[in-house]
Amino acid sequence: MGKVFLVGAGPGDPELITKKAERVLKKADAVVYDRLVNREILSLAKVGAEMIDVGKIPGCHSVPQEEINRLLVQKARQYEVVVRLKGGDPFVFGRGGEEALFLRQHGVPFEIVPGITSAVAVPAYAGIPVTHRDLSSSVHIVTGHERCDRDKSVLDFKALAGLEGTLVFLMGIKNIEHIVKELAKNGKKEETPVAVISRGTTPHQTTVVGTLKDICRKVKESGIGNPAVIVIGDVVYMRDQIGWHETDGKKRILLTRAPEQSAELIESLRDCGYQVISCPTVKIEPVYGAFEAFSRRIEEYDYLVFSSVNSVKVLDEAMFLWRFDVRKLKGKKIAAVGAATAKALEKIHICADIVPGDFTSDALAEMMAAEVKGKRVAVLTSDIGGEKLIEKLRQHGGYVDKVPLYHNVPNYEIKDYLIEQLIRGLDLAIFTSPSTFNYLIEIAGDSANLLRDVRIMAIGPVTSQAILEKGYKVDLMPQRHDTEGIIALIKRDG
Ligand code: SAH
Repeated sequence: MGKVFLVGAGPGDPELITKKAERVLKKADAVVYDRLVNREILSLAKVGAEMIDVGKIPGCHSVPQEEINRLLVQKARQYEVVVRLKGGDPFVFGRGGEEALFLRQHGVPFEIVPGITSAVAVPAYAGIPVTHRDLSSSVHIVTGHERCDRDKSVLDFKALAGLEGTLVFLMGIKNIEHIVKELAKNGKKEETPVAVISRGTTPHQTTVVGTLKDICRKVKESGIGNPAVIVIGDVVYMRDQIGWHETDGKKRILLTRAPEQSAELIESLRDCGYQVISCPTVKIEPVYGAFEAFSRRIEEYDYLVFSSVNSVKVLDEAMFLWRFDVRKLKGKKIAAVGAATAKALEKIHICADIVPGDFTSDALAEMMAAEVKGKRVAVLTSDIGGEKLIEKLRQHGGYVDKVPLYHNVPNYEIKDYLIEQLIRGLDLAIFTSPSTFNYLIEIAGDSANLLRDVRIMAIGPVTSQAILEKGYKVDLMPQRHDTEGIIALIKRDG
């Protein structure tokens, strides 16, 4: 019997998760997640973990709660570590209590990993402290979505209206008219300030501020929607002085590479004041059969060449799964195509012997040219990658095998989000490989045409060529074909 971790994923900003959440997510065999969980956080899960979306869209529960409960028990029987990942905190309107009880009743061990709740963090990102010495000495977190199987309101609006403290309604946007009307009817002053904050802590955070009297009209006019918190009380005034996170007016940059490969880039761009939209268009699927075959022949090879961070990631996973002892790599020369790949190797305690200064496969082949003759080389790559490098190494006299450790497949999970971003408009889209671009076109379908109004950056000549071939233009290409090059160019270009 495995263990289930009921984990809070925080309110949206992927940096707002706890260290413990990150740790258990990284070792989870299965992740059962909700709609509100940020994609960047999901990508922390290891390659090959079973990812189960039980996403609840308000109004139409896609997987009933009883089924989720049963699923958790079933997965705990199947795996060692199961993570049940929820937005915010699992025990704040997250039904975490029900799940924990069901697990206890079925003898499944569990742990709770609290998260940062949107009830507090989202107002904070909108410059609203939920308590303040002079303005509010309590905060009340209230559901705005009453159970529809009850004919009478469970909320005591008279009591709520009488409270001096801040009221924070979750799940209330659909019911906002009812909430506001009831509070006013029960004596809350009409000029009490109200803020409605949608998609808080994310790059898409929007806030509408009004009073009990006019907030409904303002919300309607603005068109903002779920998920949103409603904050009612004088603390809303603080926003004028300490608001800090709103994204209006920022340039919008689309990144299409997996976020774990773009961490440095995302951080630099955010620090420079850009709004970074992360839409990984490529997903990797490990091909463990290829690893098995390779591991049986490992002794034959003199050189192992890693063509990407993904090769390292899959190798690491596979070594663990097959109890492949690292000592079997003894004596092999290790090459990495770029600095990021070398860094990924370092993380698994392998220091690459050969890393080209110019991060291209041509440069790597040149570096190996003098020594590779007559040697056996394994190129660890994707099913469609590494061709050019392999050809060059063969020309230099190496006996080269391709080890296709993983497939690149289009990541359809981001389809709706991607299209939404294209419709909203972008200033720049960055592509770091032909597949990041080709899959975007495939996933977006007709909406891909919207990309024609966006400036496009290709990391290097190969990617650029792929984009041009599809009839799109390339506006920018950095001199250095890596993260540093991209950052330098964006800073220069504005
Ligand atoms: N357990 C969660 C709440 C789940 S209920 C927590 O602790 O945050 C879902 C509600 O949370 C949404 O209807 C909305 O009111 C609020 N919410 C969650 N994430 C939000 C976000 N990023 N911005 C605004 N509201 C959010």
